Amino acid sequence: MTSIYNFSAGPAVLPQAVLKRAQAEMLDWHGSGMSVMEMSHRGKDFLSILAKAEADFRALLTIPDNYKVLFLQGGAVAENVMIPMNLLNGKSADYAITGSWSKRSVKEAMAIGSINVVAQSEPFTYVPDFADWMLSEDAAYLHICTNETVNGVEFDGLPGAGGVPIVADMSSHILSKPVDVSKYGVIYAGAQKNIGPAGLCLVIVRDDLLEQASATTPCVFHWKQQAENDSMVNTPPTYGIYMAGLVFEWLLERGGVAVIEQENIAKAALIYNYIDSTDFYINEVAEQNRSRMNVPFSLKDEVFNAAFLADAEKHGLLQLKGHRSVGGMRASIYNAMPLAGVQALVDYMKLFEKSH
Ligand SMILES: *Cc1c(COP(=O)(O)O)cnc(C)c1O
Repeated sequence: MTSIYNFSAGPAVLPQAVLKRAQAEMLDWHGSGMSVMEMSHRGKDFLSILAKAEADFRALLTIPDNYKVLFLQGGAVAENVMIPMNLLNGKSADYAITGSWSKRSVKEAMAIGSINVVAQSEPFTYVPDFADWMLSEDAAYLHICTNETVNGVEFDGLPGAGGVPIVADMSSHILSKPVDVSKYGVIYAGAQKNIGPAGLCLVIVRDDLLEQASATTPCVFHWKQQAENDSMVNTPPTYGIYMAGLVFEWLLERGGVAVIEQENIAKAALIYNYIDSTDFYINEVAEQNRSRMNVPFSLKDEVFNAAFLADAEKHGLLQLKGHRSVGGMRASIYNAMPLAGVQALVDYMKLFEKSH
């Protein structure tokens, strides 16, 4: 196999070591004679996989005991409707729009209940100053997206929300650095960026917030029912959970998220420093909000876009095309992207700049 680096925004690169282990265990998991895909979700083998995945995830993020971890289906966009169903409880909720995903979250939540947009950036290149957010004291929750995958905008700190629980979409930067979970009411993340294959969504929810679901919430969307049933109100995405568990083990072996954060800082610095050193490439995001995971950039002269992407592929640098709403390029450099991959990209960018 030729060696490549995959910069996809998601589904995204997974650690080679994890894929190899999954391959080795594919036909016969730990002497069970079965693939994980073939096991009953209620059997002791799979229950041990789920318990280990949860324990390792809790260890990685030091999740306090008064939070439940749910392994759900439907991705982050399904959570966009589950959140108001589970939390609104007759009130309204505050939302900040800082990019494409938080904008989508507002649209989805508005179908369920009453939503106030309390902050909005224009264009999506920064997080508005927290002092200007028009927060409501009696909101059911405040929703934010702490890393905007499409726009490459990452939060630097959190707004002071008083007693209002903060609900954060961390799909594209969860596990990229330590977080103080106790500052949030709910954290959720689709798996396909930094956790594992698509089809699984992790939800971390504070216990007291499990009491607010609307009576019409369907059972599979009902966080309390899912919590009481170990995420098995129906069949959970078993193989995705197994893969996530392997990624968690890989992260722990490497020293946990504090160590990974240092690597992510180094990777991000490498590419942003190069972009800033030339006017051939442009990144418009405010410096303190530049994402360590998703680096959108454009060429000063857009006529070279197609050539940039085609030549990149010849160099084994894949899936660098920007989101269709933004254009240009985007390099997603998640946990599983080694520093050598970012170095290869920067080397290629230099080469391309010289020849154009
Ligand atoms: C990818 C992504 C989503 C969408 O996840 P789905 O699994 O497609 O529902 C939502 N929010 C953010 C921040 C994302 O990066």
